[in-house]
Amino acid sequence: MAKKTIDDVDVAGKRVLVRVDFNVPLDADRHIADDTRIRAALPTLWRLLEKGSSLILMSHLGRPKGQRRPDLSLQPVSDLLGQLLGTSVHLAPDCVGVEVESMASNLKPGQVLLLENLRFHPEERDNDSDFARQLAGLGDLFVNDAFGAAHRAHASTEGITHHVPEAVSGYLMKNELQYLDEAVSNPQRPFVAILGGAKVSDKVEVIENLMGMLDVLMLGGGMAYTFFKAMGLDIGNSLLDEDSVPVAKNVLAAAEKQQGLEILLPVDCLVADRVASDAQTRVVARDQIPAAWEGVDIGPETRQLFQSRIEEAGTVIWNGPLGVFEIEAFAEGTRAIAETLERATWESGVISIIGGGDTAAAVTQAGAAAKMSHVSTGGGASLECLAGRVLPGVAALATAGV
Ligand code: AMP
Repeated sequence: MAKKTIDDVDVAGKRVLVRVDFNVPLDADRHIADDTRIRAALPTLWRLLEKGSSLILMSHLGRPKGQRRPDLSLQPVSDLLGQLLGTSVHLAPDCVGVEVESMASNLKPGQVLLLENLRFHPEERDNDSDFARQLAGLGDLFVNDAFGAAHRAHASTEGITHHVPEAVSGYLMKNELQYLDEAVSNPQRPFVAILGGAKVSDKVEVIENLMGMLDVLMLGGGMAYTFFKAMGLDIGNSLLDEDSVPVAKNVLAAAEKQQGLEILLPVDCLVADRVASDAQTRVVARDQIPAAWEGVDIGPETRQLFQSRIEEAGTVIWNGPLGVFEIEAFAEGTRAIAETLERATWESGVISIIGGGDTAAAVTQAGAAAKMSHVSTGGGASLECLAGRVLPGVAALATAGV
């Protein structure tokens, strides 16, 4: 069900509490290594400022485990956000307490206050009701634009909605849901999913949820070897998710019975004598994996097979790299698929939806992110969406038209 957005409520002159996902990677010098998540929140923030709101922003950063950790302060985020917004952003010394309350109540339209890391307080993850009420008391209305945190029922994502007059979504949240929820339930056909990554167990629910809707399911990456095992093939030292072999057998059996579903596993793979950039490698058919070698990428025949289905697709969802893409010598399959999907999006109007985390990193590494229809900012949240789960941070928002 569509959620109300900031366009459905009166925000002029209001102090708007916005939950953002500024959980960005920091390097050893505490510089922001990737600012994608900060930039992704800008349309919502710009719009609210343009309408005359003052902003109280809240986010977590890293895993301080309920302790005050200076190395996990949001200070670097505050500095960068000020530059991006072109206005000064004040960093509060904490996220609750008398001083913060006074800073929030003195805000004038157009001013921006960023609260300090929510997870310095254990109450955030515990979804503590009193803590949620204190956060809620800082503003007049609540906007959730933190898709990447929406799969967690925390005080700032779920608890807070019980203490504010209105809880609506921002533009980033709206976009994410439009692609990961609506485009998936009503896809342009043929509807194709490419699933890769390390473990079958992480994606079983996604496979089960999507299978009934898909025209083509392509499986690659480390998890393909668990499927090969289920087919009785020798996989050498390739990654094996032993506990998931029965699940893989069930998926293969169910796919065979499902009319109209084509399930594609790699037909050849790149194998290496170890996972290292100077390893020896060869391309082999999937039933020829040598005993002491391991599969690290899809092979050229598989690339062509997958590419041909992408070129004919209407909607493509991709979650999980097709090889150990972090090592250049094993990144060719993932890169080729990223490039084909980018071209299909641009030239043939294919709707391309990239799950967050490693897949977003792989697509960015291939220089293909900008032209995809949607690259999700949420790893865990995007997987839960694709698994058909209702995200608690989304369920708690007001429904449009009500
Ligand atoms: P996930 O978080 O499940 O999407 O997994 C991403 C990880 O899967 C990346 O770090 C890849 O290096 C890894 N991966 C992809 N293909 C393979 C493979 N053939 N063997 C081992 N790991 C792989």
